[in-house]
Amino acid sequence: MSASSDEPFIIFGAPDIREAEIAEAEAVLRSGWIGTGPKVAKFERDFATRKGLDASNVAAVNSCTAALHVSMIAAGLGSGDEVITTAMTFCATANAIIHAGATPVLVDIDPGTLNIDTVQLEASISDRTRAIVPVHFAGRPCDMGAIMKIANRHGLAVIEDCAHAIETKWHGQTAGTFGDFGCFSFYVTKNVTTGEGGMVAARSRDAIDRIKVLALHGMSKDAWHRFGDAGYKHYQVVEAGFKYNMMDLQAALGIHQLQRLEENWQRRRQIWDSYQEALADLPVGRPAEPEPDTVHAFHLYTLRIDRSKAGMERDEFIERMTAAGIGLGVHYLSLAQHPHYQQRFGWRPENWPIAYEFGRQTVSLPLSPKLSEPDVNRIIRSVRRVIRG
Ligand SMILES: *Cc1c(COP(=O)(O)O)cnc(C)c1O
Repeated sequence: MSASSDEPFIIFGAPDIREAEIAEAEAVLRSGWIGTGPKVAKFERDFATRKGLDASNVAAVNSCTAALHVSMIAAGLGSGDEVITTAMTFCATANAIIHAGATPVLVDIDPGTLNIDTVQLEASISDRTRAIVPVHFAGRPCDMGAIMKIANRHGLAVIEDCAHAIETKWHGQTAGTFGDFGCFSFYVTKNVTTGEGGMVAARSRDAIDRIKVLALHGMSKDAWHRFGDAGYKHYQVVEAGFKYNMMDLQAALGIHQLQRLEENWQRRRQIWDSYQEALADLPVGRPAEPEPDTVHAFHLYTLRIDRSKAGMERDEFIERMTAAGIGLGVHYLSLAQHPHYQQRFGWRPENWPIAYEFGRQTVSLPLSPKLSEPDVNRIIRSVRRVIRG
């Protein structure tokens, strides 16, 4: 198959940035105030409203990784504690646990939902387990009923990794509000982007107050308002914090991205449905349909390329699609495939066989709301041509 060099390359995860974002960012740049200020406060209010929360239950930060890290500290996790998470997630989930001083314990996934297997989850609880970090993979909700039951039975904190899941709901309740903390990502490829950015939603307002202090050097709360027109105030450092605050320049994008949350979700759902239908007859694995009484965020559309069925390895499929001008993603290799964790914890990928197999077969097609109908048709045609030969 030859590359169609006359057609532009379709970038995986292209952000949908429109004039409203550009105008707002320009206004921030001209305002003389680009750091943490009124736009961040507005973005927090708008986010809270979308999630049916009070603004005092959310805190904007500069990444989901930061959100996970400060949530774990606010949950009181530290040295000697075990935190259970899924073997199929981005490395940031595990790194945040490690940076909080705790030890990640992996649980394999359910082969259908690709989310943490709740039966194995309960079997992995030890007397050192303190928390569970479920990840709503690809935007599909975890079984939060089962997870919260387990957490309550064993007195464990729950920190939801909602990096894929801003629109996700489980039985009418919005993801990120089941546990003690919900952590969201506004990275470039995510459903809502601020370039880099994150948000913590917490059940406890005291936890949010502490997170705001932790996210800005550990300076007392007033420091957030230190440079306002109310005049200079001295700050006090009350703990050794981090530099995790979001800027107004970032929030300027987020405010307008949030306004198109529903519209962009609808568009991704259409694209997801088109892929499901148009690829149904190919010898490749497709995602399960969303479960009843749930809202899937349609963050990723993942195909499985099994050599014995498709006649090629996943990486060969990626090479040939790239040659056809289509950028793909891999979400993810299983955590235990990475050398650092193998050396540090003695993990072997075979110990989480379902995540391992998925990690070797999975590939994500573009799902940006920016894709045009001709783009989607071209992606479908290319997948069919690469697989059918
Ligand atoms: C993207 C992602 C993160 C990290 O988000 P950042 O905002 O880039 O720090 C964490 N967990 C999962 C599952 C992700 O996909």
